[in-house]
Amino acid sequence: MTRLFRHLKPYGWLVAAVLVLVFFQTLSELYLPTLMSDIVDTGVVKGDTPYIWKIGLFMLLVALGGMACSIGASYFSAKAASGFGKTLRGKVFGHVSNFSLEEFDKIGTASLITRTTNDITQIQQVLIMMLRMMIMAPMMCIGGIIMAVSKDATLSLIFIVIMPVLAAAIFLIARKGIPLFKAIQKKIDKLNLVMREGLTGIRVIRSFNRIDHEKKRFDAANFDLTDTSIKVNKVMAFMMPIMMLVLNVSSVAIIWYGGLRIDAGHMQVGDLMAFLQYAMQIMFSLIMVSMMFVMIPRASASAVRINEVLEMVPVIKDTVTPTSTSGQKGYVEFQNVTFSYPGAEQPAIQDISFSAKPGEVTAIIGGTGSGKSTLISLIPRFYDVEEGKVLVDGVDVRDLPQEELRAKIGFVPQKAVLFTGTIQENIRYGKEDATDEEVWHAAEIAQASDFIAGMEQGYDSVIAQGGTNVSGGQKQRLSIARALVRGAEVYIFDDSFSALDFKTDAKLRAALKEETRESTVIIVAQRVSTVLDADRIIVMNESRIAGIGTHHELMETCDVYREIVYSQLSEEEIA
Ligand code: ADP
Ligand code: MG
Repeated sequence: MTRLFRHLKPYGWLVAAVLVLVFFQTLSELYLPTLMSDIVDTGVVKGDTPYIWKIGLFMLLVALGGMACSIGASYFSAKAASGFGKTLRGKVFGHVSNFSLEEFDKIGTASLITRTTNDITQIQQVLIMMLRMMIMAPMMCIGGIIMAVSKDATLSLIFIVIMPVLAAAIFLIARKGIPLFKAIQKKIDKLNLVMREGLTGIRVIRSFNRIDHEKKRFDAANFDLTDTSIKVNKVMAFMMPIMMLVLNVSSVAIIWYGGLRIDAGHMQVGDLMAFLQYAMQIMFSLIMVSMMFVMIPRASASAVRINEVLEMVPVIKDTVTPTSTSGQKGYVEFQNVTFSYPGAEQPAIQDISFSAKPGEVTAIIGGTGSGKSTLISLIPRFYDVEEGKVLVDGVDVRDLPQEELRAKIGFVPQKAVLFTGTIQENIRYGKEDATDEEVWHAAEIAQASDFIAGMEQGYDSVIAQGGTNVSGGQKQRLSIARALVRGAEVYIFDDSFSALDFKTDAKLRAALKEETRESTVIIVAQRVSTVLDADRIIVMNESRIAGIGTHHELMETCDVYREIVYSQLSEEEIA
């Protein structure tokens, strides 16, 4: 947790203000009982009314001062803690945006979300508590003991009995409570995971009638969390009564022995009253310490989870000696590339070599799981190759700054993702400063302008979260338009025509051909009709290239290709 508090630096003066204010607040609280004993012992006993007024007013001032300090401390500690939370969330988000897909795979999206929200809130709360109690608890405990001893040293011996009893009670409760608090954090994570899966997969769950199954799964996680929370609360419920018991029994003992000492003339009434209050302060400071003991392990569990994210080093980093591309535009070349996903036993693609030039269309076809998506994800350097090289414009992608590399590429992912916002904003996502004409043109080519015109607000129609208010095919066309508006050197379409009907598919590819005359186009497809007229077809089979060539060449030479073709086209179409 201490490592996280580094990020508290910008709020240094707020923290300092809190500590100073708490210092003065504690001072005033330690001073008040003494003033009171003065009033009783000097003023009341001697019947000195002006003295009572004088000290009484002074007491009021001290109390008001203490109150002001307390309010100020609350205000500044809340400010420091929420600022700290803001900074931390920003740091985590900023760091996560530099992650390559490998790190996302490792931590998991659900956990990343819990870590940036719940875990940081947890730390924020503990921070507030620590700021207020860190100074107050020890100061009150030590100050209280000193003041009590100064009032009556003999009576102070009573603490030798009370303190160990109280400490033992706190120790026992903390020992039972702390592991439970740690467990709670993990169970919240689990609950979030189940909840998230249940919500994002709601369509699948409904269609497979798995609602009951999901409900059971959620209930299990929910009960698990509830059980642990109840256990914690049972333990904690003991805390207050035990503390109050110790407090009250101690008060009785103090008054009893104090009374005897007053009777014998060793002590004054005011001193006994003050003594009683110091005893309370000492015991409350111990309770505060015990609360910190319980809260801190819980927050440190959260801190560990946040540090895990912050300290994860992205596998993909810009080189320190970037090379710039010279003149060439849109050349993509794979040289004996092999790549495996982390932890996978077998490579997802092996020994891939080919090159693509501007003005050419390279199509990649093959069964599901044959490595098509993996292959193209290496071009924008979503992952780094294991062996071989991926060259863009003659330079190894690892030697190009990521920004420069990705600016060259218009990428349409297999799963179309739209953002909440209007259609226009979604298309402009590809190029921030695109003019209206460019946006319309891109939509036109992507065959999206017709359905956009059909929508009530046209380009200003709002896309719902996750793009649920447009069909699969419409989503695909919008994400194609988003890539086209970039005017990129290399276009990559990962199975982007699969949700389109044959007519739209053909129209789109014809328009695309015009538009991308000077760009390199790489199309991943399932349908033979989509790849027929490509300049080069790469046939993927079980992570390897089974053949490269035009349709006619492959029909002669490649068994895998022939199989795919026969499974899809009728005899006359093939001829
Ligand atoms: P295609 O696009 O041809 O259907 P992919 O390239 O998506 O195939 O997948 C190739 C292989 O890599 C599959 O066996 C798949 O299970 C595996 N794979 C894909 N993505 C990941 C990932 N993020 N982590 C681990 N393995 C993956
Ligand atoms: Mg794929």
